Amino acid sequence: MSEEQLVRKIKDGTVLDHVEQGRALQVLEALSIDGKDGNIVTVAMNVPSKKIGKKDIIKIGNRFLKSEETNRIALISSRATVNLIRNYQVIEKRKIETPNTFVDVFKCPNPTCISNSNEPIRPIIDVLRKSPPLLRCRYCSRLLSPNEVI
Ligand SMILES: [Zn+2]
Repeated sequence: MSEEQLVRKIKDGTVLDHVEQGRALQVLEALSIDGKDGNIVTVAMNVPSKKIGKKDIIKIGNRFLKSEETNRIALISSRATVNLIRNYQVIEKRKIETPNTFVDVFKCPNPTCISNSNEPIRPIIDVLRKSPPLLRCRYCSRLLSPNEVI
């Protein structure tokens, strides 16, 4: 079975290819995709890849994710590629870029941070440096590495 055939082609929607092996579910969580809207979501994990050994692939039917959305996965799978598909054709291909801010993607690991209280606060993590990534919680100013928030 070829790489192409392994996952059914979608007519319209977004394909996230070259997702870091084993991280597909984290990616879906960061994108707030839970399948509740009724669209077909296909997840393939540990797919052999010539480029990166093994990879995950996610196909999201009938949704065209914007850069602001797909950039939310920058720390989880920076090498992923985004393909927008219309009528079985790739109409746009793009890479993931690290945004300046992650809103509502990661929780601050500081238990006494106000963003972890019962207040209705959306966690905001600012990116101070992109490579290697250095992050800071906007509320408690704690400096964070990607490993602490993922
Ligand atoms: Zn904090």
